Amino acid sequence: MIYKGDYKISSPYGPRNINGDTRFHKGVDFVGTDKTIIAPCDGRIVSSTIITDKNNLTWEWGNYVRLDTQDGHRLFFCHLASRNVKVGQTVKKGDIIGIEGNTGYSFGSHCHFEVRAKDNIPIDPIKYLESINKTDREKTQEYFGFDDNTMNYLDKHPYSKDLYRKLSKF
Ligand SMILES: [Zn+2]
Repeated sequence: MIYKGDYKISSPYGPRNINGDTRFHKGVDFVGTDKTIIAPCDGRIVSSTIITDKNNLTWEWGNYVRLDTQDGHRLFFCHLASRNVKVGQTVKKGDIIGIEGNTGYSFGSHCHFEVRAKDNIPIDPIKYLESINKTDREKTQEYFGFDDNTMNYLDKHPYSKDLYRKLSKF
């Protein structure tokens, strides 16, 4: 998860309409009880900034941090009150990214959390957060729909760990 403590979802990923703004919501909006936002996995900080030029749409994100994961995903933490990380820094799961806030195009304190795959296309952040907590074996079984017998057979493969690592990348 991206919070140290409890949180709720104030706006899910997907189509929405806020006062006539019908743009697809490319992230999830979270509101935390404790406002401390943490890295859900290891990675490297690629951006930690605020854009104030309103000709650049990224101004809407206010203070934001981009974290790139080892599996090639881009994680964006937006509207932060403050940022705790610098560009180029590596972070470990659980390290503090920043404090939830209300900067940019925002109405009330929340964190717009967005996840993009390698091709820069946004994906459902909740599904992503669930997937990073799964083992390569679990991902392989789920993706290919293998039954337990098949998995037991694959477990006996001399390089089963390497096999699952490869198969889980599909
Ligand atoms: Zn949002």
